[in-house]
Amino acid sequence: MCGITGIFAPGRDAARIAYFGLYALQHRGQESAGIAAGDGGTIRSHKDMGLIGAIFDESTLSELSGFVAIGHTRYSTTGSSVVVNAQPLLETTEIGDFAFAHNGNLTNTDDLRESLAPTTTLLASSDSEVMAKTIVEAKGTMLERIEAVLRVARGAYSITLCTKDELYAFRDPWGVRPLCIGTFPDGGYAVASESCALPTIGATYLREIEAGEIVRITADGIESYRTHNEKAHPALCMFEYIYFARPDSQLNGRSIYMARYAMGRALAKEHPVDADVVMAVPDSAVPGGIGYAAESGLPYVEGLIKNRYIGRTFISPDQGMRSRSVQLKFNPVVENLRGQRVVVVDDSIVRGTTTPRIVRLLRDAGAKEVHLRITSPPIKHPCYLGVDMATYDELIAANFTIDEIAKKTGADSLGYLSLDGLVEASGRKGDEMCLGCLTGTYPNVPAAHHARAVC
Ligand code: 5GP
Ligand code: MG
Repeated sequence: MCGITGIFAPGRDAARIAYFGLYALQHRGQESAGIAAGDGGTIRSHKDMGLIGAIFDESTLSELSGFVAIGHTRYSTTGSSVVVNAQPLLETTEIGDFAFAHNGNLTNTDDLRESLAPTTTLLASSDSEVMAKTIVEAKGTMLERIEAVLRVARGAYSITLCTKDELYAFRDPWGVRPLCIGTFPDGGYAVASESCALPTIGATYLREIEAGEIVRITADGIESYRTHNEKAHPALCMFEYIYFARPDSQLNGRSIYMARYAMGRALAKEHPVDADVVMAVPDSAVPGGIGYAAESGLPYVEGLIKNRYIGRTFISPDQGMRSRSVQLKFNPVVENLRGQRVVVVDDSIVRGTTTPRIVRLLRDAGAKEVHLRITSPPIKHPCYLGVDMATYDELIAANFTIDEIAKKTGADSLGYLSLDGLVEASGRKGDEMCLGCLTGTYPNVPAAHHARAVC
């Protein structure tokens, strides 16, 4: 995953705006974050491990002066939690320096790495760094170099890139990861992974950056280039609708909240159950739960309260706490559960580690029956394009039947939304999205070198 932003705001402190933009994208990654800013002469940057609020303060931000900036917040994956993988990456070329922020995952990193000059030193060994070095070693203007990388890079990449005085934003030809652009009322532009970041920084949504499009913003205004030769097929990631995007974002004109609400309604039609109340696992499943309740006519209650401040903890709980780790995050509202037949709506079951603990917690709180309803189909296949579910082994639905999963979770019944129900709720055509984790059919992205997702 990852969240990225890009700001071009003449006469203003772009880094400060990028900072608040990243705050609105914090849900897309909590491992590390950074901002780079250009003032017409130099690019300066600051990045570190952790949450945005802990990384920046007045003094670090005020050192990042300038009217152009990009920001990045990184999604956590195992084994690569080191500051050298934090972004933006800073690169030097014979036409000047640039900073680079990537959301997505390349599928031909090994090929690209082999094409680099033998003398090239890679510090981070991430797909993002290989892509940045490909730009460094390309020829011509920055635009020509970006065009060159678009021709050879395969997989998922939404990118913001700034030089000392220009902002670029571009998207892979399949449009796997989102990226949109807005305008400031007093001039200038903001680019963000999700539209929810735009109102936060006083920008107005303009449009999506299209698959395969390069947007260039300079003091002279905005230009758009479309360069890829092959006719790529659109393949926006369905998991953005299911889990990742914030509900107050819109993707291609469809509100994520309304998509999830429609998923909940469809789920209630497909898997009705005799019950007393409907609840959702906060926060991502809440619109789906409200939709299920509306369609079923059952009351919607809050059955779990989520601790908003737990975030990612790097302190390991002791053994006794680890077995109850779900309780670090959720407390049951006993009064809404005791003696009740409860429908529990969640957005997905990936590894099947958390879900049984939630069912246990609800039963311990006195729920008489627990009926699990999931607003996505079973996740049966790995993601090669940026979501951290990389192997068949780790996916519960790749290894067990729905009945077996129901038993493992300890629920009285389990129902998944159908693929058709999901696609219809998204408001997009099924063949215009990547449904690889649900169907095993991936967009036409050559994936010979399926690397573990690092971003
Ligand atoms: P599981 O039972 O598969 O261990 O956990 C299911 C829960 O994981 C669901 O509540 C779902 O919202 C959540 N989930 C799905 N994808 C991700 C992810 O990439 N990161 C985190 N932290 N949670 C996720
Ligand atoms: Mg969840």
